[in-house]
Amino acid sequence: MQESERIINEVAQGLRDFEEAVDWFCSLGSVSRVAVLREVVRYLMQAHVTAQDGREGLLRSGVKPTVTPAVLIAREPTLEQMGKIVRLPPSEHANSFRVLLSAFVVADSRRRKVECRGTCSHFWHHLGRG
Ligand SMILES: [Zn+2]
Repeated sequence: MQESERIINEVAQGLRDFEEAVDWFCSLGSVSRVAVLREVVRYLMQAHVTAQDGREGLLRSGVKPTVTPAVLIAREPTLEQMGKIVRLPPSEHANSFRVLLSAFVVADSRRRKVECRGTCSHFWHHLGRG
């Protein structure tokens, strides 16, 4: 499992502090940050994210609702808006990561609760047991 995959999923499962993940993200170079933003979007698609997840996540993201990635994530169509978020300039990377990761916490938590119910074969959903 890649470091990024582990960190993102640990945050979603409450095994790692959100701010610690943000610090890790900010320590990366801009090319790696874009790769991580794209990775989070892939996971959001797997988790069937909705604009409502984005809005709910925003409340706990630590980002002002007026910054560009926050405005975009609250809009539909969700996947199109996320495509715009990953293309924002480096000055917006940290806010974009906060907004996308927060949406993932909401979407993935729902998926684990409603769909997986502790019995799924998604290896990344069983980090706390290894
Ligand atoms: Zn699962």
